[in-house]
Amino acid sequence: MKSALVTGANKSIGFETAKQLAQLGYFVYIGSRDKTKGLEAIKKLKAMGLKNVDCIQLDVIDINSIKSARQELEVKTKKLDILINNAGISGGFPQPATKVSYDTLRLVFETNFFGAIQVTQEFIELLKKSDQPRIVNVTTELSSLTNHSDPNWKFAQFKPAAYGPSKTALNAYTVMLAVELKDTNFKVNCVCPGFTATDFNNHQGTKTVEQGASVIVKYATLDKDGATGKFFSEEGETAW
Ligand code: NAP
Repeated sequence: MKSALVTGANKSIGFETAKQLAQLGYFVYIGSRDKTKGLEAIKKLKAMGLKNVDCIQLDVIDINSIKSARQELEVKTKKLDILINNAGISGGFPQPATKVSYDTLRLVFETNFFGAIQVTQEFIELLKKSDQPRIVNVTTELSSLTNHSDPNWKFAQFKPAAYGPSKTALNAYTVMLAVELKDTNFKVNCVCPGFTATDFNNHQGTKTVEQGASVIVKYATLDKDGATGKFFSEEGETAW
C-alpha cells in the first residue's frame, strides 16, 4: 500500500488533503504538532470509514520532533511515497515591508521555509525507497513575484512582507530540490490551494477545503510523466 505524510494535517487544508489521499487508497500519516489534535483528526477520519490513517507528532520548527517522527515512521513503514509540506503560518496581516517585525519574519520563515526543508531532509531517505516519490510544497499566490510586480494586484492589500517572501523562498528551494533530483523518479512541485476558507484567514477564503486540497492531491499523485520543479495552482502552471 502506498503511503503519505502530510504536515499540519490536524485541520483545514492539511486534514482534507489527508482525507482525500486516504479515500484514494493511500495509508496516510497525519502530522500534528499537538498529538491530541492529531488523535482527534484520526478519530474523525475513522468515523468516515477511513481506516488506513495514523497520526504522528510533528512540529516543523522543532528538529527533535522531526527526528522522532522520522524514527517512528521508519518503524511503521519501509518507504514513504508522498510528502506534503503543508504546515504553515501567516504571521498575521498586514505585514508592511517598512514595519514588519524581525520576530514575525523569523517565526514565519522558521515555519514555512526552514521547517519544510528540515522535514524534507529528514524524510528524504524514506522517500527514496518509493518507486514514485512525490513531494508537494504547499505555497501561495502571495509568493509570486510576478503577481507582486503589479501594484494593483488583487491581493496586494495583504501586504505580506513576511509570509510572501517565506513562500517565495520555499518555491526557490523546491526548484533546487527538483533539479538535484531530476535524474531520479521524484516529482517535486510547489502547489497553491487557492484562497481557501480556513482558520488561516478567519474563513474569508472563497474556496472550500475540498477544492483547495484537491489541487494538492492532483500534484501529489502525478504519474511518471508528470512535471517536476514547477509551480501549480487550480488554473495550472503559475508564474513564479
Ligand atoms: P490553517 O487552517 O491555519 O492550518 C495550518 C496547519 O498548520 C494547522 O494544522 C497548524 O497546526 C499547522 N502548523 C502551524 N505551525 C506548525 C508547526 N510549527 N508544526 C506543525 N504544524 C504546524 O491553514 P490552512 O489554510 O489549512 O493552510 C495550510 C497551508 O496552505 C499553509 O502552508 C498555507 O500557507 C497554505 N495556503 C493557504 C491558503 C488559504 O487561503 N487558506 C492559501 C494559499 C496557501 P495547529 O492546529 O497546531 O495550529
